[in-house]
Amino acid sequence: MNYTISSAFGTEAADQPIKEMTIQRRELLPNDVEIEILYCGICHSDLHAVKNDWGGSTYPLVPGHEIVGKITQVGSEVSKFKVGDIGAIGCIVDSCGKCSHCHDGDEQYCETGWTVVFNSPDKISGGMTYGGFSEKIVANADYVLKMSETVDLAATAPILCAGITVYSPLKHWKVGPGKKVGIIGIGGLGHMAIKIAKAIGAEVVVFTTSPSKLEDAKNLGADSAVLSTDKAAMKAQRDFDMILDTVSAKHDVNVYLNALKVDGSLVLVGLPNEPLEIGAFNVVNGRKSFSGSNIGGIAETQEVIDFCAEHNITADIELIKPSEINEAFERLEKGDVKYRFVIDIKNN
Ligand code: NAP
Ligand code: ZN
Repeated sequence: MNYTISSAFGTEAADQPIKEMTIQRRELLPNDVEIEILYCGICHSDLHAVKNDWGGSTYPLVPGHEIVGKITQVGSEVSKFKVGDIGAIGCIVDSCGKCSHCHDGDEQYCETGWTVVFNSPDKISGGMTYGGFSEKIVANADYVLKMSETVDLAATAPILCAGITVYSPLKHWKVGPGKKVGIIGIGGLGHMAIKIAKAIGAEVVVFTTSPSKLEDAKNLGADSAVLSTDKAAMKAQRDFDMILDTVSAKHDVNVYLNALKVDGSLVLVGLPNEPLEIGAFNVVNGRKSFSGSNIGGIAETQEVIDFCAEHNITADIELIKPSEINEAFERLEKGDVKYRFVIDIKNN
């Protein structure tokens, strides 16, 4: 296989800052496209991976999985895109395509393991995958999403992870008109969850540890916002059909289980690196479920991109230069972002 060189922004070790480096991208195979990356969002998962929070990070590591750019080359077998189109990539760049989950459009639950866009063994090119904090990327067109060039591309990039990660469980748990949903944490995922849950017609209550975000929650569309450190206010919460937990660090989930109605579900999408503790009575009483959900499949990602375009939903972003990535990571660690950093890759 032949390779070309691309510049990228990555790290050599968990305790090292992000710096400019060079990586290899494969030359196009017949089903591939090449994308010149314009924008890439910064998800808390990028930060977890850079710091090796979950173990398993391989360095050099180039993060980034909310990628939007321009198609610059198309392989001979590709009919979905032409040069000049907008192409977008989220977390998934490969899967077996044969198992029942791939067949059902849930590539993220592929039985033989799917390939994550970064820090994942690359079954096609060899080595590890490198993500969207880079100048260009080559991927199989089946895993590349379509996006209209009339949308605000930078503010749409976060739909590729934050948007799909909240849309998929909201849909799976049938949130909609007449349903009361709670959203825990107003960060990248949480703020998209407020917008999407509102657009599908649910009553939306937000839980935040940050007093400064209470007013924002309502501006983002929430019906009400609760300071989760206020014990009395938390005790009064009840009758939720579903609560979506987007918190990135260890926290008490039992208070939320108690706020569910009978048969309600607390659904975890946040990925703290420490185990969460559940009191038996908090699930046994009221036949409650504690569950989780991982991103969403390719077809569903296209669906949420189209849904957001139709409902004029984009992320609230802070657009940064590549040279500001380290500062952005420091602020993300502290929950200090309103509400998603997006890198303007070409503004280097
Ligand atoms: P983020 O922008 O940093 O938002 C996380 C929010 O959680 C913070 O803004 C804060 O909200 C709240 N929070 C942080 N520390 C807390 C603590 N100790 N106790 C209570 N609340 C706390 O992160 P994100 O990009 O939205 O990602 C959130 C999590 O989802 C991360 O763990 C990420 O890895 C994970 N993730 C999972 C998937 C998946 O497929 N399952 C996909 C993407 C991301 P308030 O200030 O409002 O309290
Ligand atoms: Zn993500």
